[in-house]
Amino acid sequence: STVLLRATDLSRTYGSRRGLFGAVTKVRAVNRVSFSIAAGETLGIVGESGSGKSTMGRMALGLEAPDEGQVRFAGEPMPASGSPAWRAQRARMQMIYQDPLGALDRRLPVIVQVQEPLDIHRIGDQAQRLRLAQEMLARVGLSSEQMTRYPHELSGGQRQRVVLARALMTRPDFLVCDEPVSALDVSIQAQVVNLLVDLQAEFGLAMLFISHDLRVVRQVSNRVAVMYLGDFVEEGDADDLFAAPLHPYTRALVSAAPVTKRSSGQARIVLTGEPPNPADRPGGCSFHPRCPLAIARCKQEAPVLRSVEQGFGRRVACHLVEPSSMPNSKAA
Ligand code: SF4
Ligand code: MG
Repeated sequence: STVLLRATDLSRTYGSRRGLFGAVTKVRAVNRVSFSIAAGETLGIVGESGSGKSTMGRMALGLEAPDEGQVRFAGEPMPASGSPAWRAQRARMQMIYQDPLGALDRRLPVIVQVQEPLDIHRIGDQAQRLRLAQEMLARVGLSSEQMTRYPHELSGGQRQRVVLARALMTRPDFLVCDEPVSALDVSIQAQVVNLLVDLQAEFGLAMLFISHDLRVVRQVSNRVAVMYLGDFVEEGDADDLFAAPLHPYTRALVSAAPVTKRSSGQARIVLTGEPPNPADRPGGCSFHPRCPLAIARCKQEAPVLRSVEQGFGRRVACHLVEPSSMPNSKAA
């Protein structure tokens, strides 16, 4: 399969001030992360808040420039945000955020907003644009009557369907979804996730799907990467990874919310200590203060993400997990 998006050694650091007069400290949000996404494939990114996954998503779309590293889309380096080349590229890449109301204009009926990308990119005439917008809104499950409503007259689930319809109007190849169902009622989440999975197959979309919810990620993703304080700590095929997580952090996440029968049979790992704080990144393995398996070496030396034998493309960053005897042979 062809690689659509390739990220190499992406890093992003912010300045952060402690209190009003405190010194500005550097906060490393994303730490030398590399991955690739094939056309039509979904990579899920799992992590707690503060793990750097949203920053990663914005860098993947060129909305934020990395301090180091590079994103290549369809073989070309990502153009600078806001440049004419980037705007042209944007028709092929779309972002779905958690809050659909924030993504929509309260003053306009949704049909007008779904038509808008075709106006901007000058695709078709007025009648064609209206018809295509109606077809897309019907495809995501809105009635003709609902199409003429304003965003606040729709439910949260309907609004997220509208956002999806608008994102698909320019027939993108790549979608970044950042917690797309987290703001919705649990009863509605499954419907929107199912719709997203159907649309992904129908339109041949590649996706970067960001969520803290393992079950949702499991349902949507072909491959999964687990982030902790800006690092990929584990990556692999979604079935393999959730059935037999290898990194202690992944094992703890899966213990807390078993995703498959097999994963519920593994020895439990319970997380202790504070949730990750990017402004206070521990040395060595950054997970060591919370890791029940930590050894002396973990405080001194950061583990490197390495290929392992278990499963194709499986990579793990932990001193306790044996690397593959054939170095890098299975790396993405
Ligand atoms: Fe735990 Fe050490 Fe592995 Fe980090 S390297 S996850 S602290 S065992
Ligand atoms: Mg976030």
